[in-house]
Amino acid sequence: MTAPAPATPSAGSLRDLLAAGVRTYSFEFFPPKTENGERTLWDAIRRIEAAGPTFVSVTYGAGGSSRDRTVAVTRRIAADTTLRPVAHLTAVDHSVADLRHIVGQYADAGIRDVLALRGDPPGDPRGPWTAHPDGLRHAYQLVELLRSAGDFSVGVAAFPEKHPRSPDWDSDIRHFVAKCRAGADYAITQMFFDAEDYLRLRDRVAAAGCDTPIIPEIMPATDVRQITRFAQLSDARFPRGLAERLEAARDDTAAAHRIGVDHATALAQRLLAEGAPGLHYITLNRSTATLDIHRNLTERPAHARHDH
Ligand code: FAD
Repeated sequence: MTAPAPATPSAGSLRDLLAAGVRTYSFEFFPPKTENGERTLWDAIRRIEAAGPTFVSVTYGAGGSSRDRTVAVTRRIAADTTLRPVAHLTAVDHSVADLRHIVGQYADAGIRDVLALRGDPPGDPRGPWTAHPDGLRHAYQLVELLRSAGDFSVGVAAFPEKHPRSPDWDSDIRHFVAKCRAGADYAITQMFFDAEDYLRLRDRVAAAGCDTPIIPEIMPATDVRQITRFAQLSDARFPRGLAERLEAARDDTAAAHRIGVDHATALAQRLLAEGAPGLHYITLNRSTATLDIHRNLTERPAHARHDH
């Protein structure tokens, strides 16, 4: 594998970069609730800024709970850093008028990149989904809204292990492709730990005649105690071997960190070798593990690594 060159954030729209075959490297943050959390976040943002990622994204709290914080953090990234911010936006509990207002706030702050999501019900993410009476039912409608609102570069979500609510793969892929045809420029996946899941999804989407770039999400697992949290965040299957290695290193922070970073590095390396258009790292607002993986990929030759 040739060492991938980082893209310059200012070099064209994400749509154009991906269409030109530029590999993207991106990092995801969530809006913190406390002053301490804010400090941790900005410490991570500054370290990641120095690595020159293609973009960074800021999540939109379940049920719109972080609406103002998401807008504020994204706006500050646009104003105070050299980074390109991608703002997540969900349709949960918002009327179309609310959504247009938030999109207007993003535009005012110079933000042109939005990840359009349906979102999950607040409280119990697995509970029944109910649309706002004056709102949207599915992500493709938010893609259409953004497209009609102006010159936004729009991303959508993809699910390597199928969306938990999709009854079967056929409908999952059909709706994903519809979302792309509605105007999505790229997709970012849910977290997963087995490259085959990503590759199968990509092949299914390609077989359906859709060539929208699908960026895999990388979540480093550096502590056995995180596994339960991952299960709450997604239905991703966690590899037993990795769980056992992390369990053995339960009380050895440095060893557990190495295990998680090595596993994620090997996964990322395989995905890039298979032609993934980029990598999207979940940071949980910390920079160390994701930057270690990023450096492994960009600074160390593949043969010099000990991959698991
Ligand atoms: P949709 O594309 O609307 O799909 C949801 C379900 O509906 C799927 O089963 C789909 O097949 C089905 N479907 C789609 N269209 C139709 C149709 N026309 N008719 C019938 N069925 C249809 N959540 C947050 O709250 N905040 C975030 O910041 C956030 N960020 C995320 C980032 C990434 C990269 C990913 C992968 C997920 C993120 N999520 C976030 C979670 C996401 O909101 C949930 O997984 C949600 O359940 C699905 O969102 P979606 O945009 O894929 O919805």
